[in-house]
Amino acid sequence: MKSKREANTRFRLVLTLGLAVVVPALTLIYVNFQHVKSIQRGKKFEALIHRDFQYLLSNSANKINAKAYELTEQARDAFPSEADSDKEKRRKFDLLLDRSPWFAHAFFYDAKKGVIVQPHRAHTDEKELVNLDKMYSGWFSLEGPHLVEQLCKKPKPIMWYSGESDGPNGSTYTTTAIFTFPQLAKDRPVLGGVSFDPNYLKQNFFPQLLEEFTSQKLNDGSGQDSNEPEEQRLAMLVYMADTSREEPERPLATSAGWNGGKPEVSLSLDNPFHGLALGIKFQGTTAEAIAHRWVVQSFLILVVLSVLMIGGLVLTYRSVNKQVALARLKSDFVSNVSHELRTPLALIRLYAETLELGRITTQDKKNEYYSIIRKESERLSSLINNILDFSRIEAGRKEYDFRETDIAELVRNTLDSYRYQIEQQGFALEEHIDPSIPAVKVDREAIARALVNLVNNALKYSDSEKFLAVKLYREQSVLKLEVSDRGIGIERNEQARIFEKFYRTCDPLVHNTKGSGLGLSLVRHITQAHGGGVEVESTPGRGSKFTVWLPLAQST
Ligand code: ADP
Repeated sequence: MKSKREANTRFRLVLTLGLAVVVPALTLIYVNFQHVKSIQRGKKFEALIHRDFQYLLSNSANKINAKAYELTEQARDAFPSEADSDKEKRRKFDLLLDRSPWFAHAFFYDAKKGVIVQPHRAHTDEKELVNLDKMYSGWFSLEGPHLVEQLCKKPKPIMWYSGESDGPNGSTYTTTAIFTFPQLAKDRPVLGGVSFDPNYLKQNFFPQLLEEFTSQKLNDGSGQDSNEPEEQRLAMLVYMADTSREEPERPLATSAGWNGGKPEVSLSLDNPFHGLALGIKFQGTTAEAIAHRWVVQSFLILVVLSVLMIGGLVLTYRSVNKQVALARLKSDFVSNVSHELRTPLALIRLYAETLELGRITTQDKKNEYYSIIRKESERLSSLINNILDFSRIEAGRKEYDFRETDIAELVRNTLDSYRYQIEQQGFALEEHIDPSIPAVKVDREAIARALVNLVNNALKYSDSEKFLAVKLYREQSVLKLEVSDRGIGIERNEQARIFEKFYRTCDPLVHNTKGSGLGLSLVRHITQAHGGGVEVESTPGRGSKFTVWLPLAQST
């Protein structure tokens, strides 16, 4: 009946845990698992990073273009006017170019006066100058008016000619701006222009901008951790992306941290830098590696969560199981104690009534009845003492009164008051008490109660061979009190549990013997309060030996 109720309680518990915790938690874990898997399968994480890269590249491209326009417009504002003499023009060009190291040369075209080309003082090369002069004169005499017409139609009257040229130091890239002047009438066939210095582009212009771009964070700083790990820093490059050439990526400039290899995402630049492309990647890692690490981390977290949940469930289940078992033990305890109280009381009453009636005539018989009454009342008080002690311990109110005690005498006295009962029950009692043990500070009553509990157990749990041995001796700085019997013994797996409150073994003899399951838990508490402990050695069917040990040196 009891076990059926317990099984019911357990079933209800499992059901509640299942419905309230396990199913929702497992569903959540499963959904998350699937989610991570779908992210992994669809390479969504990489796609997200690549989208950010795209965004960053197009932003950077805009900034590069804006910078080129800005420099060009500044130059246009400082251009000589068409009314200036050639000499004045050249002087103004020199001034302008001195202030603008990014330009290699500037030129001015007026349909009426021809072309003036002025190189930067730092790169004057007569031959090149002649070539440039020839080129611009030829070109503008043919297309000048047409170019002016085209430029006037544009919202920003600047057009660009960019490309690579093979020089003595390999191929170089530059771009040239050609513009009209907004302050002049639209039909005036006048053009100006500046050409960027290829070396400046390569060594200053692009490297500086790339450094600026890579020092900012992905997503333009939003949503990213400010203390980005080292490996997630960005690296960028500008490369010549002329598809007609054999090698696809010939770097023109790179940011710090670019250690070769291919960019993860690229973007072709438009005018003013047509023919170039921007590339980006992570320093020291790839989007794929980051995505892989994220997926592994997510899976790990899910696994840890699952393990924690299972662990938590097992713990909850076990603790509830323990509570259920404790509740059963408590109810057993109540019925056992009631029985234990009833039996001696009934006996006392019976023998007292018999004596009262005066029917017993022989002194021997009377003595026997008196002794039964005494014995039963002793049992009663020992049981009540146990219960009182136990309740004090449970409430944390148990106090011990430690005094210098001759422990050999204490053990002997306690045994003496039980000797009659022991012998009456047909037990052979062996005593080995070392009289030389020094006085120790103990609570007399508590130690006596521990001994009585152990002796009582030996008497209760012996059937065929009735033997009891009590040994008190010293082992270095430890005092040992052994109580041995040759009774029913205790199964190995139950030996630790018998010291728990209310615990009683499953042996049929134990079942038929009344007890509260409190005795050994009291013994353990008492010995621990004295700084010692209690141990058991037992073989089922052969007997048990309980050893109480108390420290001699540091005994309180
Ligand atoms: P109680 O004797 O009132 O049941 P105890 O706490 O004294 O409670 O003992 C707990 C259990 O340990 C007993 O129910 C019994 O199963 C087992 N036990 C204790 N002492 C012995 C012993 N000497 N021999 C065999 N079993 C014992």
